Amino acid sequence: MTYDTVAETDPAVARALEGERERQNGTLSMIASENHVSEAVMEAQSSELTNNYAEGYPGSRYYGGCRYADEVEQLAIDRAKELWGADHVNVQPHSGSQANMGVYLAVLDPGDKILSLDLTHGGHLSHGHPANFAGQVYDVEQYEVDPETGYLDYEGLRETAEEFDPDVVVSGYSAYPREVDFERIQAAADAVDAYHLADIAHITGLVAAGVHESPVGVADFVTGSTHKTIRAGRGGIIMTSDEYADAIDKAVFPGTQGGPAMHNVAGKAVGFGEALQPEFTEYAEQTVANAKALGERLRSHGLELVSGGTDNHLVLVDLRSSHPDTTGKDVEEALEEAGIVLNANTVPGETRSAFNPSGIRAGTPALTARGFGENACREVADLIVDVIDDPDDEAVVAAVGERVTELTDEYTLYE
Ligand SMILES: *Cc1c(COP(=O)(O)O)cnc(C)c1O
Repeated sequence: MTYDTVAETDPAVARALEGERERQNGTLSMIASENHVSEAVMEAQSSELTNNYAEGYPGSRYYGGCRYADEVEQLAIDRAKELWGADHVNVQPHSGSQANMGVYLAVLDPGDKILSLDLTHGGHLSHGHPANFAGQVYDVEQYEVDPETGYLDYEGLRETAEEFDPDVVVSGYSAYPREVDFERIQAAADAVDAYHLADIAHITGLVAAGVHESPVGVADFVTGSTHKTIRAGRGGIIMTSDEYADAIDKAVFPGTQGGPAMHNVAGKAVGFGEALQPEFTEYAEQTVANAKALGERLRSHGLELVSGGTDNHLVLVDLRSSHPDTTGKDVEEALEEAGIVLNANTVPGETRSAFNPSGIRAGTPALTARGFGENACREVADLIVDVIDDPDDEAVVAAVGERVTELTDEYTLYE
């Protein structure tokens, strides 16, 4: 892809777009929620469908001119059904947060109760944080991970559910490195007659590839994002049974959104098509193998991982025991200087603040997309540790940066 036309009409924006391409090509994204889509997905996302108003659903739109929008959306829906095995799929949510909003609107009234994981323990803003609409409209109680093991405290969740009597129990997380036992959470929700929303935003691709247990057919509602471990471009998705199909479709449109971003739905269709190919299973398996290799190597340098390791695409490092005077933000900033991009993250039992927390979160989906295997991930772990040990040493940061440049030259990304 080129930005030649934008460069002619709008050089300022073109420079920023070129800059971003160079940034992605020349750095290593280890943000656990980021990935790199194919050129085919980007082409579909920049199609003329951005002009089209497709309020409604395939075969039943409010405006004319939706023949091809119908075709594209139906392809996205059919492919999603095949990928995740769901009875009903809505591919219109603009984002994962809006997918969750759709589910809440479908089943909750203002003031109803949500039980979800604490944000500092790996939950998500849209699960009822006070800064999010869900925390302002609904009554929210939180469960936690076991402070000793870093694993979900399923027993505590069950007890809290019995005391709080929620209307919805939310599972699915932003910074949880372990396999989630959705059936066990379903049992806790059943025991108090609550709905179960499994938000698999981070692991959508791992579930599609069968690398993580699926909540589809277990939980009442499954929401996901289409840009994290699956490479279908930015957006959200909701899966449910036929029983709730109408309620979900009405909650997305007209409940919480207007016209769907049909160009992004086209990106989803293409990305889902790619994920149906056998290579995608290999990609998902490699993503997890890479995260394990990364985590083991970090541990071998004396770093502490929350839960001691990982079953999925991310690791969460708690710096407090190995580097008590270094914060996650210090590490994030020094690593970005060296071309390794990840984020500071709160850890269970956080003693600092959300802005300057005690941990870092690192994921392998984007590295795997550009061809990294386990050996390369081990080397990246070594580079990360070099910087964590000496975040203020410019020579160390520069040396790591040089090696990162060699790696990004070897594992090329966008033309
Ligand atoms: C990333 C994420 C979302 C979706 O976020 P958007 O930025 O709105 O797409 C939802 N839930 C969880 C648990 C997430 O990690």
